[in-house]
Amino acid sequence: AQRELVHRERMAAVGELSASVAHEVRNPLGVIANAVAALTRSAQPDANSTTWQLLGAMGEEVGRLDLLITGLVDFARPLEPQLMTQPLGPVVEGALESALSTEPRPSTLQVTRALEPSLPDVPMDAQLLHRALHNLFLNALQAMPQGGSLRVEVSHQEKPPGPPHALISITDTGPGIAPEVMQRLFDPFFTTKALGTGLGLPIVRGIVEAHRGQVEVNSTLGQGTTITLRLPLTSTSRGFTTTGLPAQKENDV
Ligand code: ADP
Repeated sequence: AQRELVHRERMAAVGELSASVAHEVRNPLGVIANAVAALTRSAQPDANSTTWQLLGAMGEEVGRLDLLITGLVDFARPLEPQLMTQPLGPVVEGALESALSTEPRPSTLQVTRALEPSLPDVPMDAQLLHRALHNLFLNALQAMPQGGSLRVEVSHQEKPPGPPHALISITDTGPGIAPEVMQRLFDPFFTTKALGTGLGLPIVRGIVEAHRGQVEVNSTLGQGTTITLRLPLTSTSRGFTTTGLPAQKENDV
């Protein structure tokens, strides 16, 4: 409980700092992006010219910063889930489609969906859940740049023990997650990708916890990774902090 508390406080501090940094950086970054775009338009396209190369490098770095700032804003945005009981299928499908259209899609990529037909509706904030699933699908796709198999399964469990819940699992046949990466998986800003922000999974966890759900990671090196989300089928009201982390329970302190 103590570790959990320290983690929450750290996340809350990171969230606040992120919001103000993102705010301060966004405007000047926009000015730089516009200037680079204008200079690029008026320059002579020539791969050997230093000016052209520098403009290219600037454009790339501006894009990278923009990605980071967008991630920060997303991360710091207050999570106030508006739970509505609704079907899960379309949200999963929508997030999958949007991820597939953002990432380059290798021709050898296989996508399988296994949605239980009698799935009960789930209390959720569809927009937030879309964002969480989108992040998970992106990670799965990015783990398989040469293609592979992406499988999404949706089911539910109503038998005791444990409260009734829906299960969404996303499996990829990527490289899997090494133990030293696994330890830091949910740390904000931890990334192993050249263009990563390290905010994808912390955002996923914040959103799932705001639904009083759980995130489970199973990975085998060389075989792939399965991330499973458990979402309760019965909603209960609960307070939330502005950093997207569920408010502390009194008995935690
Ligand atoms: P980002 O995607 O920006 O790196 P995330 O928080 O989403 O940020 O992920 C953190 C790290 O976790 C990734 O850099 C990667 O090393 C690892 N990771 C996440 N999902 C997977 C996956 N499906 N397969 C292998 N590694 C993964």
